Amino acid sequence: MTSFNDFGLAETITKAIAEESYTTPTPIQIQTIPPVLAGRDVIGIAQTGTGKTAAFALPILHRLDADRRRAARKTARVLVLSPTRELSGQILDSFRAYGRHLHIKSALVIGGVPIKRQMQAVDGGLDVLVATPGRLLDLMNEGAVFLDRVEVLVLDEADRMLDMGFIRDIRKIVAKLPTGRQTLFFSATMPQAIADLAKSMLRDPVRVAVTPSATTVERITQRVIHVDGGTKQAVLADVLKSETVDRALVFTRTKHGADRVVRDLVRSGIPASAIHGNKSQGQRERVLADFRAGEVRTLVATDIAARGIDVDGISHVINFDLPNIPETYVHRIGRTARAGADGVAISLCDGEERVFLRDIERLIRIAIPATDRRGQPRPAQPPREPEREAVHVRAPRNGRPSQGPRRNGHPPQAKGSDGTIAGVAFLNGNGRPGRNSGRPRHSGQRAPSRSR
Ligand code: AMP
Repeated sequence: MTSFNDFGLAETITKAIAEESYTTPTPIQIQTIPPVLAGRDVIGIAQTGTGKTAAFALPILHRLDADRRRAARKTARVLVLSPTRELSGQILDSFRAYGRHLHIKSALVIGGVPIKRQMQAVDGGLDVLVATPGRLLDLMNEGAVFLDRVEVLVLDEADRMLDMGFIRDIRKIVAKLPTGRQTLFFSATMPQAIADLAKSMLRDPVRVAVTPSATTVERITQRVIHVDGGTKQAVLADVLKSETVDRALVFTRTKHGADRVVRDLVRSGIPASAIHGNKSQGQRERVLADFRAGEVRTLVATDIAARGIDVDGISHVINFDLPNIPETYVHRIGRTARAGADGVAISLCDGEERVFLRDIERLIRIAIPATDRRGQPRPAQPPREPEREAVHVRAPRNGRPSQGPRRNGHPPQAKGSDGTIAGVAFLNGNGRPGRNSGRPRHSGQRAPSRSR
């Protein structure tokens, strides 16, 4: 399967794909499009950045094209649920782009914008409705939309839905859908709660998986800079000045942290913007547009806000704070090295975060090389981390009780089955391939001092 013409998609769709300049289907598209066209349920393990949106949108559009019945009032034929406003907007844009020759009726139902216009958009009946769960429930409760005619349900980024506390909302929504629907379920990782949710929603699904972050991880030059907590701001400014940055995405744990980092960067003469949940939809869109256009090269984000950001050309991902969920590290660094490009991921790690670093290294089975702020190897032992228990009870900087290291129910060992780290060799103490002994070794790392 080397061409989009091999799938048997309607000509109106292949024409739009050609106009998008897509020549070769990505692995997730090759695996997903045929079973979806055959009407099967699909469970896909794939991250954003793999071409997942087209993998479900193209066969769905084909189905809509083949059966052009009009949606009844206040109903939708296709429902796509996604965790964030940004991702929802991008999914809708993709449907509109790939379906530009089909004249489909589509709308977005997301929080943070007036509900009235969304009610009006749904009122006449829709082919495709893309929604975040909370706002969709609001519309359902108002009697503005009925889901009993949904033919296809897509649940995107299910694991992020779990992180954001949406699972109950999703169960409520799914309960209103017809049982005879087709369901497509996508998640980057498969913790037990997500596997259970999938089981309750899918009928005899075809399983598809791609290994995006394995290939991505191999193309990313990862480094860690050990710092004293109070010096992170200065180190970040230095790093951004010394690297050749096309676009840098800087992650902080909290919204206030993001704002503080932006303030300090601007004071150091580095233009930067923040994107997080406290920003209005308009502000978020403006900030993203500036970042896409390269007008602001440094975007500081929290994990939730960054989740749906689909911007190619991010040369650097910088973890100002290390995430306490190791999988989040994989999600974060996957924002760079997109579309075949290389990328750099730099983590600033203070003494208290050493325990998070160790969990991350176990997951990715790579010991991330330590460097100084100029990228020169720094083999000296970093300061000792505090005991793990001390991290559990420590007073967090944001004043809220620490939850301690969370792992979404995963054991700390690398998973492999979800594809997030496949292909990264792990060597045992004799240098031979072996099972995880809990001590990652340097593996397949490139020289850490590259600058772009
Ligand atoms: P997604 O994983 O759906 O967020 O897609 C990631 C990026 O890849 C988007 O910018 C898409 O426009 C792009 N894309 C998707 N499929 C293809 C393809 N077959 N060839 C080239 N680019 C693609």
